[in-house]
Amino acid sequence: MKEDNAQQEYLMNILHLAEERTSPPPLPREGIPKTIIPYPIQIICKIFMLPFILLDQFVQKAAKILIKTPIKKGGHCKRRGNCCYYILLPERKGLLFKLYFFWQTQINGFFVRKKSPEDTQGNKILVLGCKHLQQNGSCNNYLLRPAICRRWPIVELFGHPKILKGCGFTLELRKSYKKEPYTSFYKDFQVKNEE
Ligand code: SF4
Repeated sequence: MKEDNAQQEYLMNILHLAEERTSPPPLPREGIPKTIIPYPIQIICKIFMLPFILLDQFVQKAAKILIKTPIKKGGHCKRRGNCCYYILLPERKGLLFKLYFFWQTQINGFFVRKKSPEDTQGNKILVLGCKHLQQNGSCNNYLLRPAICRRWPIVELFGHPKILKGCGFTLELRKSYKKEPYTSFYKDFQVKNEE
């Protein structure tokens, strides 16, 4: 629980950092590491994964129609790119994580921004950047972007939504939820989002 809170706090801090920036963070001093997987193979892998990503997206949307979240999402993406500045990946032990990390860095185009992971009271979090992000905030991999990029802003059934101020999306409490305990629970978030 303590670890979860520390992780949440870290996430909120880095979200704040990302929303305040007016340009992408600097690249690692040694540049973006070269991938060992050739570019055409990367594209083939992404095309292969696309139907699964779209299916996942469809199922999530369908679930949200059936079970409505207390928060309603509106607006649209302004393509500022700030949500692509820092991609957080909790570090795990074992082969599965190694394969996942390999996929994210070799196929999806993410790269490690900081060599040593952030330690949030026992949990290690890797901070990644993305080579597909352009200086003007657009994505040069938009059609084949991975699932993680399609989830923002995150609005779940429980917990505070994750969104970057000024991104163009708006979140508001649904009419039927404008009562206690929901109004208190989302109060901090609403104040923050309105600032
Ligand atoms: S793939 Fe595109 S949307 Fe995803 S992090 Fe990179 S630039 Fe952003």
